[in-house]
Amino acid sequence: MTETLLYDIIIVGSGLAGLRAAISAASKNKNLKIAVISKVQVMRSHSVSAEGGTAAVLYENEGDNLESHIYDTIKGSDFLADQDVAELLVKKIPYEIIQLDRWGMPWSRKENGRIDQRKFGGYSFPRATYAQDKVGFYEMQTLYDTCLKYENITFFNEWFCTSILHNSNTFQGFTCIEIKNGHFVNMVAPSGIICTGGAGRIYSFSTYAYSSTPDGLDMAYRAGLALKDMEFVQFHPTGIIPSGILITEGARGEGGYLINSKGERFMKNYAKDKLELASRDVVSRAMITEIQAGRGFKHVSGVDCLKLDLTHLGDEKIKGKLAGIREIGIKFSGVDVINEPIEVRPVCHYMMGGIHSNVDGATELNGLWVAGEAACNSLHGANRLGANSTSECLVWGAITGELAANYSIKYKSNSINVDNQQISTEEKRIFDRIFRGKGDVNPYEIRKELTDTMDENAYVYRTESSLVEGLKKIRQLKSLYWKHVDDQVKEYNTNFLNVMELDSMLRVAEVVLLGALNRRESRGAHSRIDYKERDDNNFLKHTLAYYNDDGEPKMNWHPVTFTRYAPAERRY
Ligand SMILES: Cc1cc2nc3c(=O)[nH]c(=O)nc-3n(C[C@H](O)[C@H](O)[C@H](O)COP(=O)(O)OP(=O)(O)OC[C@H]3O[C@@H](n4cnc5c(N)ncnc54)[C@H](O)[C@@H]3O)c2cc1C
Repeated sequence: MTETLLYDIIIVGSGLAGLRAAISAASKNKNLKIAVISKVQVMRSHSVSAEGGTAAVLYENEGDNLESHIYDTIKGSDFLADQDVAELLVKKIPYEIIQLDRWGMPWSRKENGRIDQRKFGGYSFPRATYAQDKVGFYEMQTLYDTCLKYENITFFNEWFCTSILHNSNTFQGFTCIEIKNGHFVNMVAPSGIICTGGAGRIYSFSTYAYSSTPDGLDMAYRAGLALKDMEFVQFHPTGIIPSGILITEGARGEGGYLINSKGERFMKNYAKDKLELASRDVVSRAMITEIQAGRGFKHVSGVDCLKLDLTHLGDEKIKGKLAGIREIGIKFSGVDVINEPIEVRPVCHYMMGGIHSNVDGATELNGLWVAGEAACNSLHGANRLGANSTSECLVWGAITGELAANYSIKYKSNSINVDNQQISTEEKRIFDRIFRGKGDVNPYEIRKELTDTMDENAYVYRTESSLVEGLKKIRQLKSLYWKHVDDQVKEYNTNFLNVMELDSMLRVAEVVLLGALNRRESRGAHSRIDYKERDDNNFLKHTLAYYNDDGEPKMNWHPVTFTRYAPAERRY
């Protein structure tokens, strides 16, 4: 008999969104029992690696204003953002910044002692609130410390969630594997929040933690929930080679610029006002165009790249404000950015898409919410502005935590009748078909081929033929007999978990490619060489993908919410 644990709220994911949701729920009512499940230790969640900042309007008296943050977000999204969602973010995030300050967040300060903000791509005002160049680390530590003050939050670190328990339209819990002993456990609660982060490890060249795989997205997808706008993948202009580790946009915010092999600051030819601080899709496209025109550099590994020059910023500024990226440069590229430009190339960095939700993060299942990068309430549309994602995690962590708490106050976990058939079907899927699978193809080779295919076929520029070929390749990989686990121990079986992750990667990669193929236009981060223009007549709408047990995903469209701005041409 499988063990069952009863909680009032189950949060999957202990990144910024998960921790903020836990505090929000715990502070709502101290009698609610809250479980936070994470497949890694809390402080290993990808959020700790956020470097540059969290966007918010703090100084209306110095010229900034909320409307401008709303507009910049919508313009950055190439008008695919749901405008009510952008509005909610902008109105709520200033309070979150101050709240974090009260909880002990060591924000970098101006000389006058007030919280400092730096420039970031696509914004009309310096709005990225930062803590040196380690904003995510400090935010995570502040939230984790705060969580520990609440006795009603229990952490289940190194637990791997595998599926959502539900009846036809209501959430009931999750199935999990306790990694340390391999036990299969049901976690049951009236409400849940999925905060499993982004899935950027479906690409080889990626800034993400190795744990950033789509298991959370796939769980929702298999439970019949839609994945939305998955074709929109953000490529950050400055990943170092070969690791893909990020050099924050804060480096350009502080005055760094990009050069080509002629020593030219080429962004002046692409975004004459904002230059390197145009939005990320614009800068990444300019870089690939320069490379294709033969004005790139060759990295020793043979990869084409450009260079980011920070040398003119001087020793003091770099050591003071960009210490983390200096260390990264020295350790992972052998370059001290104080003395020489560093080689960079656009790198997979963020998924605008995710689990379809409404403005409040509610999903199509009663009792289930989503927050953070795993969610797609359509804040970022076709392109996210840097620093708006940590903001999103804080705002919707807080919102969904409170809504889930209210829901659980009404409905109790002991009245939930979980369907045993669902549990045994899931046990068969993971233990019979994966753990004891009979496949003979090496799953790690499949994973590498998958991520290389995504790098090759669904990068900054896309075409019908590259996407068709990518899709064909992914489906071929999917059909091979790779489901098996060599290591048959029960305790800490990372081999087993890696194969489970691969299973989700194959399904979600297919959705990304199919969405990109269907969207015959160029919008935000999705750039089609064969359909160069944005096509508002036919594609001013969100993509939805539903799982289909016996074949291709079922694709559909969903309207964009407009509350304030009609689509306009986008220039920087
Ligand atoms: C290198 C880097 C730098 C960035 N810099 C910035 C920045 O400066 N500003 C900004 O706004 N944004 C930045 N971003 C984006 C931003 O950091 C992320 O979007 C955000 O932190 C995601 O947080 P999250 O809470 O949604 O999920 P994550 O922090 O990714 O956490 C996901 C959680 O889900 C858990 N999980 C996943 N699957 C399972 C499973 N199957 N079972 C159990 N647990 C599971 C993981 O253990 C983890 O705890 C950056 C991203 C990267 C990669």
